[in-house]
Amino acid sequence: MNNWILISCLFLLQTACTPTPNASLAKNPATAPPVIEELAPAARPRNVILLIGDGMGLTQISAGLYSNGDHLNLERFPVIGLHKSYSSDNLITDSAAGATAFSAGKKTYNGAIGVDPEGKPLYTILEEADDQGLATGMVTTSTIVHATPAAFIAHEAQRTYYEPIARDFLDTDIDLFIGGGKKYFDRREDGRDLLQELRQKGYAVSSFLETNFKDLSVDYSKKLTYLTSDSDPLSVEQGRDYLTPASILACDFLDKFNSKGFFLMIEGAQIDWGGHANNSSYIITEMLDFDKAVGAVLDFAEKDGHTLVIVTADHETGGYAINPGSTRDSIIGAFTSDYHTATLIPVFAYGPGAQLFAGIYENTAIYDKMRQAFGFRGMAVRKN
Ligand SMILES: [Zn+2]
Repeated sequence: MNNWILISCLFLLQTACTPTPNASLAKNPATAPPVIEELAPAARPRNVILLIGDGMGLTQISAGLYSNGDHLNLERFPVIGLHKSYSSDNLITDSAAGATAFSAGKKTYNGAIGVDPEGKPLYTILEEADDQGLATGMVTTSTIVHATPAAFIAHEAQRTYYEPIARDFLDTDIDLFIGGGKKYFDRREDGRDLLQELRQKGYAVSSFLETNFKDLSVDYSKKLTYLTSDSDPLSVEQGRDYLTPASILACDFLDKFNSKGFFLMIEGAQIDWGGHANNSSYIITEMLDFDKAVGAVLDFAEKDGHTLVIVTADHETGGYAINPGSTRDSIIGAFTSDYHTATLIPVFAYGPGAQLFAGIYENTAIYDKMRQAFGFRGMAVRKN
């Protein structure tokens, strides 16, 4: 066997199956795209749940853990990896480029929502899951049109185009979405009432149970839109309490909605906001709220047996440190920035396909690994 032929074949296989990082920052040979192998059908999950703790670096996790009696649900994960969070135009990513790397496997510029560096719409894992006949959903503690959820469903040049992003929700068949931002749907400059249009498309639409989520009644025969607030949802410290019950509802709803499986993205958005505010107690309360939702999702996955759960962050926020003099009951936080940093970000995985997430890799590899776990084949290509 000629070794050169073998090497050439392997190279062709790699380049055919994985997107080439186009970032100038990705020229290090150590960051070459991984070989994508197929998982045997029996080893694949039916459901994939991606939980994103926005701004959640290792110090945010540590502060949450020590403040919570030295325990987090994150300790239940058997597989841990690290990802490199930089975007195509900046070592320091923002949430839009960070989420687009997860949703579509492409490094893009800060601010980009589901589009590549040239502004071309990308085909997201949520759209592909939908096209493959799976149920899809998103839950967030920010507005639903905010950068992280937006990058899974919308295709806009800038993250601040909230009304166009809301309109993009109508172009998909997403089965459930829960988050803030009602005003971008029903008080728009173009005069459209997207909530009415959603009802016409078969959604049950409800709103404003932000602090009393258990009162939400669910019609399992319809898709579900639930808008928790007009603009940004409250913080935990202000009384927001829906992330865990909404995450449980989403798992349960999508599981009942479609027996083929589902893709669900859940975001704890305000760990990041605590970092921007350089506020330790804001970070810790949001971190623990997110970890509670992680625990509930793990409970579902353990019972189900066919669910892959991945927890990660888009980036760290604040350059957060736990300084000398801190105790478990009293964290003395220090910050180097009121923006994001470029530190490596942990990835936790549980369930069928979890082993794929060990190691150190690009943030875009999380998309590749989720497709691999689902058994989605070949290049992802948009149908429309
Ligand atoms: Zn941020």
